[in-house]
Amino acid sequence: MELVEADIEKKEIIKRYRSLLRVWNTKDKANKQLVRKAFDFAMEAHKDIRRKSGEPYIYHPLEVATIVAGEIGLGTTSIVCALLHDVAEDTDYKLPAIRKNFGEKIAWIIDGLTKIDRMIEGPGSSLQAENYKKILRTLSEDVRVIMIKLADRLHNMRTLGPLEKDKQLKISSETFYLFAPLAHRLGLFEIKSELEDLALKYTEPEAYFSIQQKLEATRPDRTRFFNRFIYPVKRDLRHRGMNFEILVREKSIFSIWQKMKNKEIPFEEIFDIFAVRFIIDVPFEKEKEECWKVYSIITDHYRPNPTRLKDWISIPKSNGYESLHITVMGQDGKWVEVQIRTRRMDEIAERGLAAHWKYKGIKSESGLDEMLTRIREILESQETNSAGLMDDFKMNLYEHEIYVFTPKGELFKLPKGATVLDFAYSIHSNLGNRCVGAKVDGKNVPIRYELKNGDQVEIEVVLP
Ligand code: MN
Repeated sequence: MELVEADIEKKEIIKRYRSLLRVWNTKDKANKQLVRKAFDFAMEAHKDIRRKSGEPYIYHPLEVATIVAGEIGLGTTSIVCALLHDVAEDTDYKLPAIRKNFGEKIAWIIDGLTKIDRMIEGPGSSLQAENYKKILRTLSEDVRVIMIKLADRLHNMRTLGPLEKDKQLKISSETFYLFAPLAHRLGLFEIKSELEDLALKYTEPEAYFSIQQKLEATRPDRTRFFNRFIYPVKRDLRHRGMNFEILVREKSIFSIWQKMKNKEIPFEEIFDIFAVRFIIDVPFEKEKEECWKVYSIITDHYRPNPTRLKDWISIPKSNGYESLHITVMGQDGKWVEVQIRTRRMDEIAERGLAAHWKYKGIKSESGLDEMLTRIREILESQETNSAGLMDDFKMNLYEHEIYVFTPKGELFKLPKGATVLDFAYSIHSNLGNRCVGAKVDGKNVPIRYELKNGDQVEIEVVLP
């Protein structure tokens, strides 16, 4: 390699490392030293290794660590683990070396991350109920393992471009099937949305780009409508001396696409492309009272639809989501969804509990432990047992598609109602021509058998 090029890369690595430190924003010297040590260790382990794009491999763990620190809001231990997460698997530096240099806890988390990889990608494995339970068990032992894994997946999805088409499809399918529901369950709404949008971009590129283009084309209209809509409410809120912010929140491309499919309507007929969000700054004790005050002011100007009132302030969702939603009749006789919440609720809703803890300025590891315990409690409470998580997985699937697995655990997407024979043909026409039946989860079934989500299918063929 040219000397100049190597210099540019070195500069870029330092730039990315500094950016990690900036989003992490800690002043603790000992923690900084530990992260530096992990960075140096990862640099050495991944030296001379490149990603498919040709970039130095170290970009990846650095970016994953930056997501962990900034977008999820985790601390030192997680940042160190993110930097080291691919070391044990892909390089000559094995787990004992990590244990010796970084201690038992970090080695345990990295081991957990590697095991999840094997559950998903390893030979002979499949993404079935048993594996979800295993993942869930890890989840209840230490939520950080799953959060770092989500950051890893998010960066892989952001950099999926250079991979071969079939890899893109496989990784995107897993993202829909497993990672987006996990992010949802952990209350990481922004990450969940980005994962879904990226997965759609690779599985349904035409639909994705068409919706993206229409969203852009109609944005000026929405801005005009929004300004007119909020004008009288804004005046009243100011009049009462409230501190607030009002935003337009567009639905994600994936949610729009899902709605178009489920309701069989074109983009133009979706009435709730956007919601108007009121975020108020109030002390914790006054949250409920003040949110309802905003409700009252909005409904002074616009008629609410009583069947569409959702009060997740009195009873928060199981993933921690709190907000007050109403649908009101705006000017032009159009229904408009309005969300009312406090700054604290918004932070939790968009970025999860960890980000909220960070926002509150609690940066010590003990503050983080408190947060992780809280998330675990939420996960373990009420209906949030493994059956609940399974429901989430099912809920998140498209209604018109099913996912089935080969005996080796490869994932295939098929239209709902697909039979054993359809599956055989989708693999290869030669296999379809010779198919006489199949074993589904070990049981013999005929070629007409209608496949269900999560089935593991072994095609049986007539011998030549
Ligand atoms: Mn990775």
